[in-house]
Amino acid sequence: MKKYKRENGTCQNLSEKEAQQLAKEGKAIIWFDGGMHASEKAHAQMTPELLYRIAAEESDEMKKIRDNVITIIVPVINPDGLDIEGAWYRKNLGTMYETSGPPILYQEYVGHDNNRDWFMGNMPETQAVMKVLYTEWYPQIVYNHHQAAPAWARIFIPPFRSPVNMKIHPGVTTGVNLVGTAIANRFAMKKMPGAVSQTTYEMWWNGGMRTAPYYHNQIGILTETAHTSPTPRFYPPDSIPKMIGGRMSSDGTEIFYPYPWKGGESHFRDAVDYMLEASMATLDLASEKYDELLYNIYEMGKDAIDDKEGAFAYVIPKKQWDKGEAVNLVNVFMRGGIEVEEATANFTIGDKEYEAGSYIMYGAQSFRPYLSDLMEKQKYPDLYLYPGGPPVTPYDLTGWTLPMSMGVDVDRIATSFTAKTKKSWSRYKNACG
Ligand SMILES: [Zn+2]
Repeated sequence: MKKYKRENGTCQNLSEKEAQQLAKEGKAIIWFDGGMHASEKAHAQMTPELLYRIAAEESDEMKKIRDNVITIIVPVINPDGLDIEGAWYRKNLGTMYETSGPPILYQEYVGHDNNRDWFMGNMPETQAVMKVLYTEWYPQIVYNHHQAAPAWARIFIPPFRSPVNMKIHPGVTTGVNLVGTAIANRFAMKKMPGAVSQTTYEMWWNGGMRTAPYYHNQIGILTETAHTSPTPRFYPPDSIPKMIGGRMSSDGTEIFYPYPWKGGESHFRDAVDYMLEASMATLDLASEKYDELLYNIYEMGKDAIDDKEGAFAYVIPKKQWDKGEAVNLVNVFMRGGIEVEEATANFTIGDKEYEAGSYIMYGAQSFRPYLSDLMEKQKYPDLYLYPGGPPVTPYDLTGWTLPMSMGVDVDRIATSFTAKTKKSWSRYKNACG
């Protein structure tokens, strides 16, 4: 295998033609997980079936998927939680508490929400997944299954609603829309109504299982599928709400809810079917566009490296009020796949002298969006329902600047400088010479 020279965070002597050729020869890598929120119980029924079908089904569609896609599946990403939820359900089956939730946490140390750790990586579970996503497999699509849909929809699928964080490459945002639209189209043609988009969830916040990948040039997909319990439920057709998720009319006139669900019986199996079809739509798209997905993630990484408006580097001076926390900050970035170097001699930038032992994170990295988003201040847009009206409620956090929240001094350096360094850690050791 040819070795490429590593310089400034990338394999520098890879030509565009070689990158295109490698993309053609490769396979797209697509990630699926389910069950992080253990109360969302249908995932564990779906993932084994998806695995089995991928391994055993002999349809033309599946053969093409096997030829062009490497699928990574985490069947249950929070198995301890599922045990708790399953035991509670079985204990209460046949009583009035059958569909209730257990009065204990399904994630012993974090509880709910264990889907808020993806920018810090505090939990060993998060760290294990980050390692696969950002330092080992680099999937082009990260599909994070959730439940449940807004009331009376069958499933929420992307596109998400605005705003989108401007650090995210537009290739990611439009890639998310592309996958969401492929899922919507499959539901329409399979006569599976009730897929709604553009409610609740947006693309601003960094820190969820499907959002942190955006800052790594990965297409993060979240869907929320109705029906979390093995107990069936009947939805009276004459009780359909006028609005779905507070945003979409249920009368069939919405572009992003064109095929409304009309109510009736709802079963656990329906949830499994909707999640399976959504997963299959994603795999089918990936099998058609595997080379494009591979080339695009290369191109987006290259754009991040070449970004002339971004910082040249972020420097964490050795002298800190809280040295331990500075080291913690470095570890957060390394978990997220950021290249970190340590100065081996004193160096100066402008008038400021930095001691040996200071940490340097150069901006020219393929994961620059992650680095700059966590290092710099967020500027959440001013959004109001109407002029003079109340603000539009953000879905989640609007700011998370780590140097501020952790109390670590970090200097953003705009212009180039030289320093003698050694690698603190590198994820390029196998790809580049
Ligand atoms: Zn969830």
